[in-house]
Amino acid sequence: MRLIDTHCHVDLYPDYKAVLWESEHAGIYTIAMTNTPSVFRRCAALTRGARFVRAALGLHPELAATREREVPLLDELLPETRYIGEIGLDYVTEDAEDRAAQRRVFETILSRCATAGDKVLSVHSRRAAADVTAMIGAGYPGTVILHWFSGPKSALDRSVEQGCYFSVNPTMLDAVAGRRILAAIPPERVLTETDGPFVTVHGHPARPSDIAQIIPQLARLWAIDAVTAARRIEDNFRQALAHHPDH
Ligand code: MN
Repeated sequence: MRLIDTHCHVDLYPDYKAVLWESEHAGIYTIAMTNTPSVFRRCAALTRGARFVRAALGLHPELAATREREVPLLDELLPETRYIGEIGLDYVTEDAEDRAAQRRVFETILSRCATAGDKVLSVHSRRAAADVTAMIGAGYPGTVILHWFSGPKSALDRSVEQGCYFSVNPTMLDAVAGRRILAAIPPERVLTETDGPFVTVHGHPARPSDIAQIIPQLARLWAIDAVTAARRIEDNFRQALAHHPDH
């Protein structure tokens, strides 16, 4: 069974080398998020030569206001990877200036990635899904994966129309609200993630291999067996990357 982790902060585990080795050894496709452009090269160096792990370039919304000066660096690094994340908006903050800085940063990244055309974006949208969806818009020229999407339903429906994918994690599926969201996503748009090490599974920080625990839940929801559910996620992942099959 091939597992896919589209959103894992590999560089934030104390034993990141072991996490990387586990993904390589088990053949788990893992997209390694970074939260600021200044750590990207270190993460990229770590994944150099890896078959299953790719380093993503990001600027996390919760760091956007304090790291806005790193946007030019992000611009410079953009040609070095096809994978972008973690990016997006987070409206847990009530601060209008902070939110405005987040929107500036996200808007710039979206537009640079649109110009590049073949990027795969992992996007955070906590309490900001309506703005995230509106900023991505219809016909966005890249692959957008909404990570840990939490509603509302109106933004979900619009994102589906706009061609977005949704990556679901164990914590999300432990909650009734998360399962309700999953049930509203067309099966061909569902992907899997751990968001490790932030998400915990049975008291330990989730690792890419913990994706195996989500598969039976997906299988139950879709009324298919686990092997078929895993294959569907793998097919969805290939579809998400299919714009440029040479990557
Ligand atoms: Mn994350």
